[in-house]
Amino acid sequence: MGLLPGVHRFVFEQGQIQLTLCIGDTPQIAKEIDIASHSICVDHIDTWGVKTLARLCKPGTHLQWHNASSDCMAELQSAGFQIDSSKQNACYQPPWQVKSAMRQPPELFKNAIVVGAGLAGSAVAHSLATRGWKVQVLDQGETLGAGASGLPAGILATHVSPDNNVLSRITRDGVRATIQRAQALLDHGLDWSLSSLLEHRYAGKRELPKGHRWPEAGHEWSTQATTPQKLAAGLTEQTAALWHNLAGWLQPQSLVKAQLKHHNIELLTEQKVAQLHAHNQQWQCSDAQGKLIAQAPLLVLANAYDAQALIDSIKPSTQVAPLPHLPATALRGQVSIGPMRLLPPNMQQSLPHFPVNGHGSLICHQQCQEPYWVVGSSFQRNDFDLQTRHEDQVSNMQQWAELMPAWKDEILNQIDLEQTTAWAAIRMALPDRLPAVGAFSHPELKGLTVCTGLGARGISWSVLCGELLAAQVNHEPLPMAASLAKLMAANRFG
Ligand SMILES: Cc1cc2nc3c(=O)[nH]c(=O)nc-3n(C[C@H](O)[C@H](O)[C@H](O)COP(=O)(O)OP(=O)(O)OC[C@H]3O[C@@H](n4cnc5c(N)ncnc54)[C@H](O)[C@@H]3O)c2cc1C
Repeated sequence: MGLLPGVHRFVFEQGQIQLTLCIGDTPQIAKEIDIASHSICVDHIDTWGVKTLARLCKPGTHLQWHNASSDCMAELQSAGFQIDSSKQNACYQPPWQVKSAMRQPPELFKNAIVVGAGLAGSAVAHSLATRGWKVQVLDQGETLGAGASGLPAGILATHVSPDNNVLSRITRDGVRATIQRAQALLDHGLDWSLSSLLEHRYAGKRELPKGHRWPEAGHEWSTQATTPQKLAAGLTEQTAALWHNLAGWLQPQSLVKAQLKHHNIELLTEQKVAQLHAHNQQWQCSDAQGKLIAQAPLLVLANAYDAQALIDSIKPSTQVAPLPHLPATALRGQVSIGPMRLLPPNMQQSLPHFPVNGHGSLICHQQCQEPYWVVGSSFQRNDFDLQTRHEDQVSNMQQWAELMPAWKDEILNQIDLEQTTAWAAIRMALPDRLPAVGAFSHPELKGLTVCTGLGARGISWSVLCGELLAAQVNHEPLPMAASLAKLMAANRFG
């Protein structure tokens, strides 16, 4: 389960029931949630504090407690609670107007356009559709998989850091969300696998937090790899390596297709959006000739690197503030793919059924027409060339040989590159290595949101990002700690 301190979201019944577990000391953990609750039950009011509890209420909220100091009663009354005769129950009925986004009624309209049908766009569309929104998804590609999400298979992996930093915490939230979505929509073993994963720690990188900072629940996520696990991954007993239990591989196209297969979603391919206009509280998407493709009050740009071009196409009526700027870096990457049957026989038999990553990664025993392996990938900054390159195939093999040194000779000398294929695409990354999700603060961009900047972690992050955006527009409790969600907010860019 991996229930470390923090906020954890569990979904049941195709997303219709949500359970949010907030694990941590009171009252600090309450700062990580914003909920307009129907009822609150606490043991001791004093440990929570009356102000904290009032912040989680809406008019009519029923508060029940077991213990309270006598000072609390007066404090409860002045905070807007009406206490009943049992002195263990109260109703929040303040005579003043209660302010908070959570306490506003949700928007009346439920129509949205999502530009981009990759991992990001399909996740947002699915999260909106399950909340009753009618969603049109537009993609310029002839078929799905026109962008980075066309990746044949990728790694679903957590991130560790000695200080358990925000990237590690966000990635674990994301992996938990992806696992739950995959369990609900995909075939285990065919489209994805929670096979666990071995991480080869190069140069001592990726250290676990030490001692009490990495309790048992942390080890349920990531722990030191055992000798048999290392040997199975082609490492030596001495090599530093981690074993990630809640990790595995996933075929992005299977997830994209499954998420888009919802009766509230309409997919329109070969629709390249070139211009955005705001008109009568609707966002209009037009093509390069100015022909209207679609319009809706909520627009989500989930078109990776190209989101900025669409933001720049907007003509604000006033110059009150500059348009948002996403300082994106394009990261070209190429993976190498080959059939298992052409590997040297000892590799065919011994390569592990779990992925191995570190500097580059290997996923093998993938099923398509025949079993295949995927190795990658290269990283080239601000390179937009989608032609595959022989030199990247060579460097992928070198990376693979370093990743799994026990098979170095076979990898470098016995794999025929002519029998491999290649696939390349562009990842979009932001400078703080976090995605950008939600609305901007620009006064003229109401109803325009983004979900982009998934970098090299789209499999691990996209479902969480979709749920976060849907929670924001529906004024629901967030699927993660508020302090982490704030770091991912699109309005950090304008
Ligand atoms: C080589 C490589 C290996 C990777 N390995 C992994 C991995 O192991 N694990 C992992 O988690 N992630 C991995 N990634 C990253 C992952 O693939 C991305 O994070 C993810 O696919 C990004 O999804 P997206 O929806 O944001 O973008 P995309 O999949 O690029 O989708 C954007 C979509 O927008 C469409 N579009 C763009 N402009 C317009 C427009 N104007 N009008 C209409 N449509 C438009 C495009 O056609 C495209 O379909 C890898 C990426 C690469 C390139």
